[in-house]
Amino acid sequence: MRILVFSAKEFEISYLNKANHIHFDVEFANKQLDIETAALAKGFNCISIFTNDDCSAAVLNELHLFGVKYIAVRAAGFDNVDIHEAGRLGMHVANVPEYSPYSIAEHAVGMLLTLVRKITTANEQVHANNFSLNNLVGFDLHGKRVGLIGTGRIGSIMAKILHGFGCEILAYDIAPSQDLSEKYGVRYCALNELSLTSDIISIHTPLNEQTRYLLNKSLFASMKKGVIIINTARGGVVNTSDLITYLRNGIIAAYGMDVYEKEKGIFFFDHSLKGIADPMLKELLSMKNVLVTPHQAFATREALMNIATTTFSTILTWSAGVRPDNELTHEPVLSLMGNK
Ligand code: NAD
Repeated sequence: MRILVFSAKEFEISYLNKANHIHFDVEFANKQLDIETAALAKGFNCISIFTNDDCSAAVLNELHLFGVKYIAVRAAGFDNVDIHEAGRLGMHVANVPEYSPYSIAEHAVGMLLTLVRKITTANEQVHANNFSLNNLVGFDLHGKRVGLIGTGRIGSIMAKILHGFGCEILAYDIAPSQDLSEKYGVRYCALNELSLTSDIISIHTPLNEQTRYLLNKSLFASMKKGVIIINTARGGVVNTSDLITYLRNGIIAAYGMDVYEKEKGIFFFDHSLKGIADPMLKELLSMKNVLVTPHQAFATREALMNIATTTFSTILTWSAGVRPDNELTHEPVLSLMGNK
């Protein structure tokens, strides 16, 4: 296998090199994959991509022409890949379904506490020698009702952590977990009930046709005044324009976002010299009650090592002519022997 790693970030390369035990021929490109950069994949039969790389049908067709057969997504979410088209072209795509749900859930809880206890404001104030508590009164999480949208790998760790805080947990998921109900008292309900009664809402669904803009003006309008929303899932699950309206009118008291629907080309890069032009993100960044982190919830040492290890074990499995369990495409496996 010859592998080109798109969107290779400085902080992950050492993990990827360490996981490449059998020394596949790997090159790293810091560029994101799109229709313009797809040509970089000429001469490689395998590529690895990250969340903001574009693997739409047009890009996949280009990659296919260049001889790319395998795509290893270094992430759990794969909403940026047209899986159907990849399957149609006979390409193999796999993700890293679980690398550390703790990394994301812990980050979500960190964002929640930062907002509830006004930690960013406190830090700014004390650095300006203001040690007053006047702006810093928060509230206990204990006894509050938290609505989890999505209780898969990450949502279930959230349920466990928040149960430890003494929160009451409501959940909305198309596949409810009896185990979570029994262990942590999670009560499943309709999205509307969750929205109407939750003090805090945390989003943990994938982005797909059913969840795109799941949080929109009609859902925001039904929310309890003063709700705090945390989104570490995908930006596109929230209609950002509607969100801004409901932050402005005070229904939403605070919003913690690790993801943004138009983050591509902005998040993961240093724009400190030129600034950014995106008007919605600029507005969100200007709001004191909005906490933004640049899609960093996954960025722990443990998660990065697990991502790298799974990525290379997937590629090794492909190179042995076997379909890995985490493959997302369902075309018949071709004989891959001699394809290293
Ligand atoms: P998962 O597949 O284990 O869980 C997703 C849950 O959402 C499942 O329980 C599923 O039944 C539910 N679901 C799916 N469609 C739904 C719908 N229409 N309505 C209600 N529930 C629905 O995934 P996970 O590992 O928990 O990850 C969740 C998402 O978090 C990923 O898809 C990814 O987009 C995002 N994520 C973000 C980061 C980050 O760094 N910010 C890192 C990893 C994952």
